[in-house]
Parts: sequence; structure tokens; C-alpha cells
Amino acid sequence: MNACAKEGSPMLTMGIDIGSTACKAVILRDGETLLAKAVVPLGTGTAGAERVYRETLSLCGARSGDIARICATGYGRNNFPLAESQMSEISCHARGIHFLLPSARTVIDIGGQDVKVIRVNERGAPESFLMNDKCAAGTGRFLDVMAGVLDVKTPELGELSSRAAGIVTISNTCTVFAESEVISKLSTGAAIPDLVAGIHASVAKRVASLALRNGIVTDVAMSGGVALNQGVVSALQKELRVAILTHPDSQIAGALGAALFARTETVRQ
Ligand code: ADP
Repeated sequence: MNACAKEGSPMLTMGIDIGSTACKAVILRDGETLLAKAVVPLGTGTAGAERVYRETLSLCGARSGDIARICATGYGRNNFPLAESQMSEISCHARGIHFLLPSARTVIDIGGQDVKVIRVNERGAPESFLMNDKCAAGTGRFLDVMAGVLDVKTPELGELSSRAAGIVTISNTCTVFAESEVISKLSTGAAIPDLVAGIHASVAKRVASLALRNGIVTDVAMSGGVALNQGVVSALQKELRVAILTHPDSQIAGALGAALFARTETVRQ
């Protein structure tokens, strides 16, 4: 018997977050238990959505017919024909983080392409939000480009910055100019951990100015893939002078919120 078929007839719902950089999906049992989760590092417009859908099903031995409802979120949410409903990333990150970290009242979501600061009420509903302009500065894209320049992998950035003896300040916020600046500092002998610390500080400054414009109410939590980078989390804590909560499932918070909406919609039907 597979995991999904246990305990009578559970209600399974799926949330799928088709992001600019990565596709995430989760399967929830009865709106309460996380049965399966998957991340595919391919964004909207690729085979990422289809792949993450299949991967999540196979992780818990479910078939497509076992899923009562699918809700899609993310940049590509309107391009996934298997989804019965679509919900904004703001609502889904708010609800997903509320499920993981119920005390959060401010959610800072840093994804591959944008940054959102969301004020959340005690029921996990968004009350207000601010989003960055269409610029890669302060986003996962900025970090991915810088990792490429330094010839390291994005998931290594957090550990690298923890070894910094100092911070090499990166003064350009524009990704293209900052890339040249990092190359030039590398050529004059700057240490990679110190450069990474400078890159994280630059992201933190940018994100903090957005967060402060929306007003910070504690507890503050991070969602999105960049929440997995402890270097950015620490730099942002320093910049905002507030503790930031994270969760190992921060990157799938949007998909989780979507699966919770799918569950609510099923109950209402
Ligand atoms: P989107 O929803 O816009 O596709 P995500 O919320 O999935 O974006 O975040 C993607 C970003 O998260 C990547 O650009 C990368 O910088 C960062 N990221 C993803 N995985 C990791 C990891 N294991 N460690 C550190 N950063 C990560």
C-alpha cells in the first residue's frame, strides 16, 4: 500500500509553484500533513512544472487521479493546464509561512527574480505587501550571477561567507556593474569569502530598504529559495537588527500555501 492510500480515504491536494527560476510542488494530506515535496531547478517556460508534478506524485506513490485538486501559484501559474485554480504568490507565501512558522507577521520572500515583503495577520492572510522593481539587484538572480563569477555553486555561498575575515564592499547595486566590480576585486587579490560577505551585505541592504518601507512587525520570517542561504539571512538580520526565522521548507512555502488553498477550495465545493 502506498503512503497516500493509508488511513481510509485521505483528501490529497497539490500546490505547485511555477517560479522564474525553480518549480516547486507539494502534496498535502487533509490539509495537514506534508506527504511529498520536490524542487526542480527549472523555471517557467521549461519542462520544470511537468517534472516537479510527476516527481511529487512518485515520491508518495500517488497517481494523478488520487489528487482531489491542484492549485498553481508563481510566475507561470496560468500556464499549467492540470491546475483547477490559481492563486497569487503573495497569498500563497503568506499562508505557507503561516503553516510552517505561525508566529510570523512579516514575510520576506526572496526568489529568483523578485523580492516581496508581506505583512501577515494571525490567520496567515496578507494585509499589505511591497515588491521590488523589475531589477535583479537583491534577488536570487544577483546571487546566482555572482556565484558564477566566483566559480562556486549558489548553495556554497552561505558557508563561504561564514569564513570571511572581513567584508569587501560591493558598491554597485546593478547586477551587470557589480559583476565587473567583483571581477576587478578578484583580480586585485580579494579573498573569495570576503567578496561573498560583501555580496550578501549588498543584497541585505537592498532588501532591508524595501522591508523598512513596508514596516517591520515581528516575528519576521523569510521564504523563497534565498532563505536557504544563511549568509544572506545573517546579513539581513544585521541590517534590520531583528531576528529572522527560517525553516528548511522555506523554498516550498508558496507551493505549500497553494496546496492549502486547494484544500480549502475542495471543502467549499
Ligand atoms: P522563484 O520562485 O522565483 O523561482 P525560488 O524562491 O525558488 O525562486 O528561489 C530561487 C533562488 O534561491 C535561486 O536563484 C538561488 O539564489 C536560491 N537558492 C536555491 N536553492 C538554494 C540553496 N540550496 N542554497 C542557497 N540558495 C539557494
